[in-house]
Amino acid sequence: MNGKTSIVGLLGEHIENSLSPFIHQKYIRYYSLNYCYLPFQVKASLLKSAIIGIKVLGIRGVNVTIPFKEKLNKFIDFIDSSAKEIGAINTIVQKDGKLYGYNTDWTGFRISLVKRIMNDKKNKKAIVLGAGGAAKAVIYALGKEKFSSISIFNRNQQHALEIKERFRRVFPRCIINSFLRYDKNLQEKINQSDIIVNTTPLGSWYFPEQNSLPEDIKLPSRVIVYDLIYYPHRTPLLKMAEENGNVILNGKPMLVYQAAESFYFWTGIQPDGKILNQILEEI
Ligand code: NAP
Repeated sequence: MNGKTSIVGLLGEHIENSLSPFIHQKYIRYYSLNYCYLPFQVKASLLKSAIIGIKVLGIRGVNVTIPFKEKLNKFIDFIDSSAKEIGAINTIVQKDGKLYGYNTDWTGFRISLVKRIMNDKKNKKAIVLGAGGAAKAVIYALGKEKFSSISIFNRNQQHALEIKERFRRVFPRCIINSFLRYDKNLQEKINQSDIIVNTTPLGSWYFPEQNSLPEDIKLPSRVIVYDLIYYPHRTPLLKMAEENGNVILNGKPMLVYQAAESFYFWTGIQPDGKILNQILEEI
């Protein structure tokens, strides 16, 4: 580190266990850049001051996580069209004193889907469990990949309805429906689907041993099961699907690919396959 070091980092309220500093330091070292990635733990009430701090201190950029992703719009000078359509920003770049906002969660999900588990995506049907910030990025990616139908199941139906309305306008050809978490249509929709994506925290270390699907659900063996959670490595949902012989994926690839996109926005360097695979093996 010296007087010319560019500072990047992570802005969030509870970030002690985040893997982002580890991943970004790996990218930085691999490319021998004069950058440093730091955690910035910020109370929700101090978001505005933190954003002013980014500008005043000349910080090159930050990743943004819960609970700030959907609260940044009024502080950002230019918002990328995808971030606008999704309604969430997870990456800020500072250039010439102006702040630019992007969403790399959706590209992280999209790349992991394409590279890891699903080559042919046109006219496919998806089930999305949850209707929060991550669900919006996932649904945007599925819409971009020309899925023909997306069924959102969520604890709070109003949240699912809001997402449905948002994306119905962006993807008029995709049939988007919203249901309550335990709606009676769940099994039938699963029977017709090609992929189930869990975007709720059920099964994570906050909610250990909780399955995001009811235990009596039958998974057709051709359905791909993707859980955005990366710790633990196998959630109850993924264990159930693996035992049933389904193709499964956890949230690690999405995390690493979305970080790679943010890194590109700050440095102009797209991390190559070698370092991406190395990090995936290590985390
Ligand atoms: P969020 O905006 O808070 O949304 C959480 C969603 O889960 C909401 O729909 C919420 O339902 C539902 N939910 C929360 N607690 C629940 C419970 N006890 N029972 C049933 N439903 C519940 O959070 P987020 O940003 O979308 O993140 C969600 C998960 O995705 C987290 O585990 C996060 O770590 C993971 N994630 C992973 C990546 C990655 O790169 N792999 C990226 C982003 C997020 P209501 O609408 O009813 O409140």
